[in-house]
Amino acid sequence: MLSIENVSISYKAKKEKYIVIDDLSLRINKGEALIILGPSGCGKSTLINALAGTIHVDSGIINFIVNDKNESLNPKKHKIGIIPQNFGLLPWKTVRENCMLPIKIRNKNVDIKENSIEIIDKIYNSLGIINLLDRFPKELSGGQAQRVAIARAFIQKPDLLLMDEPFSALDEITREEARELFLKIWKLNQTSTILVTHSIEEALYLGNRIIVMGKHMGEFKYEMENSYFGKMHPDDSNYYHIKKILREKLM
Ligand code: ADP
Ligand code: MG
Repeated sequence: MLSIENVSISYKAKKEKYIVIDDLSLRINKGEALIILGPSGCGKSTLINALAGTIHVDSGIINFIVNDKNESLNPKKHKIGIIPQNFGLLPWKTVRENCMLPIKIRNKNVDIKENSIEIIDKIYNSLGIINLLDRFPKELSGGQAQRVAIARAFIQKPDLLLMDEPFSALDEITREEARELFLKIWKLNQTSTILVTHSIEEALYLGNRIIVMGKHMGEFKYEMENSYFGKMHPDDSNYYHIKKILREKLM
């Protein structure tokens, strides 16, 4: 379980500090796929980056309970898979090296087990990047770079998966495949996940809980348990009703 308590984050601009996340408290239970929907600029990426440890938190507590141990969330210690909005690939490493980096860092000299090589190849295949493994990030299109970032996050079998608009740069068909891959991996490992998206349909397909943020993070506008998780294009009136509610809350 991930527990975010009274977290505030600010940026400095022209020597003035402005608060982007104000006193946010949020819990993500083990095995929960939490969707954050919110208007552009409300601080979604700021939160994801803070959880990944790349942005400093002004105040508050972020704890992570894994294997019954309750500790302060620590990207060096906990297995966090992150797909940042800008993909976050290292330009001087090949696709393969980028994908394997989280595992390398963790297992310094340990050989990757045979069975995990099979799983890794499966991930490369479903994301269609098997032919790109020896390229460098600058030789990739936006959609390809996003697929590499997705592979890198999934490969390490994370305990916490953070995805910031992970499928936004993909064409329709690849997006559908990437969504299916996420669901498959989620079902296998029940990974606690935070997924940021601005697509209501994606939220209803990929999350078992959905929260809608207001103009500022910390201002919850709506929260719901989602019974449509993993259900493709449901055709019932309740689904359309929920979609309408989410659309209204987002405006
Ligand atoms: P979202 O992902 O919800 O669109 P962000 O978290 O990227 O929003 O940004 C929240 C607010 O913080 C925006 O007003 C944005 O302009 C500002 N911001 C984001 N990153 C920085 C930064 N590095 N320095 C200063 N302001 C930033
Ligand atoms: Mg963002």
